[in-house]
Amino acid sequence: MASAILNATLSGANSTLSYFNVFDEVSKNAVQLNYAERLWAAWYLWMQNDTLATGIMSFVMHEVVYFGRSLPWVIIDAIPAFNKYKIQNQKIPTWKEQWDCAALVLLSHFTVELPQIWLFHPVATYLGMEYGVPFPPLWKMAMQIAIFFVMEDTWHYWFHRILHYGPLYRSIHKLHHTYSAPFGLAAEYASPIEVMLLGMGIVGSPVLWVTFTGDLHLITMYLWIILRLFQAIDAHSGYDFPWSLRHFLPFWAGADHHDLHHERFIGNYASSFRWWDFCLDTEAGEEASKKRREKKLAQIKAKKAQ
Ligand SMILES: [Zn+2]
Ligand SMILES: [Zn+2]
Repeated sequence: MASAILNATLSGANSTLSYFNVFDEVSKNAVQLNYAERLWAAWYLWMQNDTLATGIMSFVMHEVVYFGRSLPWVIIDAIPAFNKYKIQNQKIPTWKEQWDCAALVLLSHFTVELPQIWLFHPVATYLGMEYGVPFPPLWKMAMQIAIFFVMEDTWHYWFHRILHYGPLYRSIHKLHHTYSAPFGLAAEYASPIEVMLLGMGIVGSPVLWVTFTGDLHLITMYLWIILRLFQAIDAHSGYDFPWSLRHFLPFWAGADHHDLHHERFIGNYASSFRWWDFCLDTEAGEEASKKRREKKLAQIKAKKAQ
């Protein structure tokens, strides 16, 4: 690993070096690395504490991506021209609703996520996760991320469905259903128990993968989490555009799928894909219940005919 050699040359001197000095040293010594890999290696060398380096990077990434991805939806909600694409277009969130929502999400990030984040690096590296340079090839990252999407969607379907069981719904999941017409910022508006339970599918899928295969890089984990955050925020945005992904990938859930879950409270439990709800007959909405009614009627008629 290139950083091991650099570590030897830089150790001792780093206390006086700025991050950019370390980055320059890395660039001089490891010309084979691309720009992102140099930034990455310099960060770990400069920090001199890998658990802390991963922890800070993970927390900052989560905040930047979460609020960065939610902001365009806040702006879109304020522009009337976009209203024709809003699924429940009579319900535009107020500034106060969005502010209160963001405050609770932020509080949960600091009180629930931050204390646990320090465990991730030691546990994941113990199980075989790599975090050095160079990064793995793109095809490998894409393949693993596709697998994590399928794994997490399965976890999410079952645990979300369980959270709709009466007592659990009232004590845990009801908070997430505060908004019957969701908006981007509401993606992580949930009780700490729900955040941990459903978050386990997001962090646990790659952890399970590395436990069995021993093949995972932290950058793949980050890309997966970034894409899953995009998915969650967009699914809560309340907007379905003609160019939304679900029109090109019919099994992709998107906002169309999850908005209906918030509106009806029953059905459409999966996160990224439609197949679990389709196969287990838990699709939400008029059309799905009409189909279910017709199916039942046909069964009754068939019984009578016997
Ligand atoms: Zn729900
Ligand atoms: Zn939701």
